Amino acid sequence: MKATNKKSKVYLVGAGPGRMDLITVRGLELLKTADCVIYDKLANPGLIKYARPDAELIATPKRVGDESFTQQQINNLLLEKAAEGKTIVRLKGGDPYIFGRGTEEAKALADAGIDFEVVPSVTAAIAASAYAGIAITDRNFASEVIFVTGHEAEGKENTSIDWVLLARFSGTIVFYMGMSNLKSIANRLIENGMAPATPAAVVADATLPTQRGVKATIATIADVCEKEKIGAPALVFIGQTAKGDSRLEWLTKWPLLGKTIVVTRDVAGNAESAAKIADKLAIPIELPVSRIKSRADSNDFIKTLSQIHSYHWTIFTSPNGVEIFFSELAKLNKDARVFGPAKIAAIGSETAASLAHCGLKADFVPAEFTSKDLAKGLTESTNLRGQKILLLRSRLASDDLPQLLENAGAVVDNVPVYTHEKNLCDLKRLSEMLTEKKVRWITFASPFACTCFFEQIPVDFVKSGNARVASIGPVTSKKLVELGVKVDIEASEHTIDGLICAIEQYESRIND
Ligand code: SAH
Repeated sequence: MKATNKKSKVYLVGAGPGRMDLITVRGLELLKTADCVIYDKLANPGLIKYARPDAELIATPKRVGDESFTQQQINNLLLEKAAEGKTIVRLKGGDPYIFGRGTEEAKALADAGIDFEVVPSVTAAIAASAYAGIAITDRNFASEVIFVTGHEAEGKENTSIDWVLLARFSGTIVFYMGMSNLKSIANRLIENGMAPATPAAVVADATLPTQRGVKATIATIADVCEKEKIGAPALVFIGQTAKGDSRLEWLTKWPLLGKTIVVTRDVAGNAESAAKIADKLAIPIELPVSRIKSRADSNDFIKTLSQIHSYHWTIFTSPNGVEIFFSELAKLNKDARVFGPAKIAAIGSETAASLAHCGLKADFVPAEFTSKDLAKGLTESTNLRGQKILLLRSRLASDDLPQLLENAGAVVDNVPVYTHEKNLCDLKRLSEMLTEKKVRWITFASPFACTCFFEQIPVDFVKSGNARVASIGPVTSKKLVELGVKVDIEASEHTIDGLICAIEQYESRIND
């Protein structure tokens, strides 16, 4: 088949070894612009969200089953899509050429006269070595490294592996695809003269929250893996470096590694929290128990917009409030100049950061991020008597703040910018995980989130699942207590970062 359109091009892109942000910058940029993305099972599925919304997405698992693809079918698919004149990103786990059959795809493209480019990436052995503290070229132990496929270990005939050479190799040997043949790999090395006590290590799911590793000798490694239920995808390291060095095992010291953390905000809030949680190599579960609804069509809001400049202070109490306010402002062809000389206060650092994003520096941010501290701080730093204050908040925000400001003599207008509504969630996965006691934390960032969550899941069910509960601050904790929930930790800084930090500190204390 010949390409009919000169513009078609295939990029064989290495997706990196596991966690999605280990892809290269070039790989990601190409992924963002491709017309068609054809991706392997080992490429992190989270990367797909970077593809264009209208890009054609094709998964090509190479396992047994109806949906499975042979290498020939994948090659044909690449040619077919290229013939349609498309820009194609062929996303492959790790590096495209290292045991990835990327070479076969590249040759098929070359034979068909189709333009292609190969974007290399971190191969699993290199990533696992960094993430598990196995320095494969530590000069005290190894001056050489060999990468070997473990696929060929079983049949005694037709193997292109030089077992004699491997058995007396003094550097580091890394087997890819070796888990199903681990026993025969070890036996063959020992039969050919390698000392049974030679160190061996296996690292599975390298760079992912589920990363696990074991260390043993070549004589015992297969049994240890079976006992510990360690399976593919995994790499087998053999040689003196496989002993590792506990000083290099930085990842196992991460307190949230592999812990499941449920987030209970709206869709966008959950996505923001989940990204921060995933960054710590914990496993986020996003439960959108509420959804945000703008109230900018209300008469109150529209009337207020024309008068903002006449207030002495405007107060924002959440990034949501800031974002919705400014997007509505933009729709009306207006910008930050509506504030005129009015001063602006933000309840905390995240709200202040959202304002900064819109080009506005908050004139006041309290040291503690609560309504009470905001009111107290403002009252102490300014004489509020007779001052006109505008609150741009959620319709569900409590009366505490306007009350405290009025007590200080201010004239307060409370104008809702948005509200939260309850959202019914699919609870199947969470229920299963709670039953299996696999949920470590459930986090709450507002009293409304607590109400919405516990209207959908009984308190006793959460208790029976041994999940710990983390609250963003005192108002949320109060609501949880009212609902009969034990609060295991409350963040001392009332932000999402503060909440995650509090969980980290709790887990670190337990590990000590
Ligand atoms: N092209 C890939 C390798 C594909 S072969 C690369 O460069 O990494 C598939 C084998 O790679 C698996 O059987 C396993 O041995 C290894 N592998 C891939 N991802 C891995 C991971 N996250 N952790 C451990 N091993 C991995």
